[in-house]
Amino acid sequence: MKKVLVINCGSSSLKYQLIDMETEAVEAKGLAERIGIDGRLKHTPAGKDTVVIEEAMPDHNKAVELVIGALTNPEYGVIKDMSEITAVGHRVVHGGEKFNSSVLINEDVIKAIEECSDLAPLHNPANLIGIRACQKLMPGTPMVAVFDTAFHQTMPEKAFLYAIPYKYYEQYGVRRYGFHGTSHRYVSERVAALMGKKPEEIRTVVCHLGNGASVCAVDHGKSVDTSMGLTPLEGLIMGTRSGDMDPAILSYLMGKEHMNIDQMMDVLNKQSGVLGLSGISSDFRDIEAGQKEGKAGAKRANDAFVYRVAKFIGAYAAAMNGIDAIAFTAGLGENNAAVRKEICSYLEFMGVKICDKRNAVRGTEALISTDDSKVSVFLIPTNEELMIARDTMELVG
Ligand code: ADP
Repeated sequence: MKKVLVINCGSSSLKYQLIDMETEAVEAKGLAERIGIDGRLKHTPAGKDTVVIEEAMPDHNKAVELVIGALTNPEYGVIKDMSEITAVGHRVVHGGEKFNSSVLINEDVIKAIEECSDLAPLHNPANLIGIRACQKLMPGTPMVAVFDTAFHQTMPEKAFLYAIPYKYYEQYGVRRYGFHGTSHRYVSERVAALMGKKPEEIRTVVCHLGNGASVCAVDHGKSVDTSMGLTPLEGLIMGTRSGDMDPAILSYLMGKEHMNIDQMMDVLNKQSGVLGLSGISSDFRDIEAGQKEGKAGAKRANDAFVYRVAKFIGAYAAAMNGIDAIAFTAGLGENNAAVRKEICSYLEFMGVKICDKRNAVRGTEALISTDDSKVSVFLIPTNEELMIARDTMELVG
């Protein structure tokens, strides 16, 4: 039996899934949260109730220890001991230009991930802490790093360069890297499978619309452009992030509001987007409800969000000289039929036609366009954990 433990480690949380690679079924999943604060572990064995374990987690080592304890618990565990785990797959946010695919972790890889930390100071150090904690508690178990940025390393220079002095790219690596790569790869592969084609045969735009949101142009299986940039702040309007805007707004607003750069960045990362525009919430469920109640802020945020996504799809149709498919994924893409329909209504000029009956679905793979639509439109629930587990197995053998 081959089993892969998938770990997604943040600064104060650690998400995990144990996946049986013969069936690709999730045997257990959970979340260790409030690490370094107090500590709580929510553990859910497949088909059973969630167990909540309140225990002090001063650091990530303790969190991993508790995860191992939960997975091997005689009552709610799913394995006898850790030797049943073939390998561990770690999500790593930033691989810079060093990684264009997943890799087996060794000391050189750890050093290279450390070197990318400059580009993702909030994420990479946390990912590394998770890797170190697992190495300590599972010595001898092979570990793999799967990068959010790797899929986008196929972008051509014309798509990834910013039009600022070239020396900043050369000296500091300032360029578009893109994120959500594991999700864009998974979804674009599923689209090809559902169309009965190979990924190399089609051009797809994947819309990953969650709290964080990005669009990706996948041209014959390769990412050729994506909306997030050096950091996840660029591109679409997100839950609390502004996405694209005139960079001159920074100095203008900093002057008006007497803000320093940290305060300004906090506004752009945490107070903007759907939250900032609506004045209601960053959660699209509240935006949906607000629109029904006739709240102007809700409609304002919804309309701007939808418009921006449609604009990107139009741009990527030009980038790829046409598109064969559009796919919606992540929390909002998978659950909000109205948003999907509104985005596609901008694309009727390309022959995109949504079928209302087919579109009345959530959280399941579905074709949502009409039979005579020139572009096939899909809803594809993303599964980054499965992709990480598959990459891990492939490298471990
Ligand atoms: P994250 O980027 O944090 O992983 P998600 O993919 O969970 O975000 O997406 C969060 C967004 O998806 C929110 O705006 C939320 O309203 C929407 N969403 C998530 N689940 C549902 C649901 N069951 N019904 C409607 N909207 C949902």
